Amino acid sequence: MSDSRVDVVVVGAGGSGLAAAIEAARAGGRVLVLEKGDRVRGSTGWSVGSLSASGTSHQRRAGIGDQPGHHFEDLGRFNAGKGEVDNLELRQILVNESAAALTWLEQLGVSFVGPSPEPPHRVPRMHNVVPSSAAFGVCLARECARLGVDIRCGVSVTGLIVEHGRVRGVEAQGADGAVQTWRAERGVVLAAGDFSASREMKARYFGQEVVEADPVNPLATGDAQRIAEAVGARIVNGRMGNPPKLRFVPAPPGWLQRLPATPWVGRIMALAWRTLPQWVVRPFVIRFLTTALGPEATLFRCGAVLVDTDGRAVPIDPRNTARHLPLTPQRMGHIVFDARCAAQLRSWPNFVSTAPGVAYAYLDDYRRGRPDIYREANTIEALAGLIGAQPDLLAASLGERTHGPWFALGPVRGYVTLTDGGLAVDTRHRVLGQDNLPIEGLYAAGSAGQGGLLIEGHGHHLGWAFVSGRRAGRSIMGILEN
Ligand SMILES: Cc1cc2nc3c(=O)[nH]c(=O)nc-3n(C[C@H](O)[C@H](O)[C@H](O)COP(=O)(O)OP(=O)(O)OC[C@H]3O[C@@H](n4cnc5c(N)ncnc54)[C@H](O)[C@@H]3O)c2cc1C
Repeated sequence: MSDSRVDVVVVGAGGSGLAAAIEAARAGGRVLVLEKGDRVRGSTGWSVGSLSASGTSHQRRAGIGDQPGHHFEDLGRFNAGKGEVDNLELRQILVNESAAALTWLEQLGVSFVGPSPEPPHRVPRMHNVVPSSAAFGVCLARECARLGVDIRCGVSVTGLIVEHGRVRGVEAQGADGAVQTWRAERGVVLAAGDFSASREMKARYFGQEVVEADPVNPLATGDAQRIAEAVGARIVNGRMGNPPKLRFVPAPPGWLQRLPATPWVGRIMALAWRTLPQWVVRPFVIRFLTTALGPEATLFRCGAVLVDTDGRAVPIDPRNTARHLPLTPQRMGHIVFDARCAAQLRSWPNFVSTAPGVAYAYLDDYRRGRPDIYREANTIEALAGLIGAQPDLLAASLGERTHGPWFALGPVRGYVTLTDGGLAVDTRHRVLGQDNLPIEGLYAAGSAGQGGLLIEGHGHHLGWAFVSGRRAGRSIMGILEN
């Protein structure tokens, strides 16, 4: 067992943790970041990379007038009908500081394109990172290195050291199983993400279809929430989160994934986006849509059927198409359809997937771009052979549809991208105990420190990760102004 001293320990090297580390180090702190994974990534690195902000330079360049007050109101519209109590103080902080967080990221070398529209936002606010969300990790880790922040991967924090009612450090386990402790003079920032990968925590708040659904990020096991609960913290709005979504199994790495997410590549892509005609840019966007995004409900409106691995039809809930798939034996299936449906999926408004307001991918884009998940056959028997289903079950699932050739897209799974239950925090990102008083020396940011904030719509989770992470880093160093 070793025991080392720093000023601040940050738990988790996703967007919020790295932002906290940078701000704490800029304020003069000796900062240690402990990351369970073998590299800097987190859900931040799995994300699409949309960040919604108001009053940005991108909006001004596009002639869009905007202000945080309007953003605050529109965010309320996204949340309407959720039936949960929102944290309006944190919402105010988010909308006030998202534009500054975006500028801060750009100063660190992250490039964005946009803004794109997404109703009910009254104006376009969604900015998208290029070349990919890996740029967050690359650029923030580079700044950490410049500032002397010590990032240790393969170390999982398992508990907090509390002395006389104050958090004094952490206990952690390395990949070799060795237990280590670190003492933190100023305290600990919990930035370990959500609990979409914890069956036990999901079972507390959600139904079986969410428990069984696969997480996108297998390391999002709610460790921060559990570690903090053990010292008296509480989770707010635990039952909020995105329902499982249908997604195709991951694509084998292609040229887009192999592009280095360095500042130069980002700048060139952002420039190309702004200056080149759409037909030049579209192949990049389509590659992204067909690898990163899942199938939309439009497929089922055109007559497609979701089947399990045997070929048995899986019911479709139009509001949540992935609802029943996680409850099938293999938790996996295919989307099958006939030629009549396929013909509809070749043009607007029947796209297969979309980044709303940015672009749409059609069936032919999948035929060209995702041969690993696109199947076509002249008979149902042949299609069943291609997807490993039983021909009679598949034929029964396709029912009255008689127009061959036959198509399948898949495998698909129901994935949970995120859960919204974070620790209760105050506006200085101090974790609150059962008595609503701060637990001394304990801070939380990002999903772990979501504090009951409701953040529907694309781009607000990343916004919160960077806004709250930066603030938590300043707060723990005693320099947060408001
Ligand atoms: C597929 C997908 C797409 C998304 N797209 C978008 C989008 O476009 N826009 C948007 O706003 N949001 C999006 N989100 C949500 C967004 O990515 C997250 O809400 C956000 O990145 C959370 O940041 P974070 O820093 O709180 O957590 P993370 O980025 O998950 O970082 C937490 C880190 O803590 C580490 N960790 C966990 N436990 C421990 C432990 N015990 N010890 C040490 N380290 C630990 C994890 O390994 C991880 O690296 C998406 C999410 C997914 C999965």
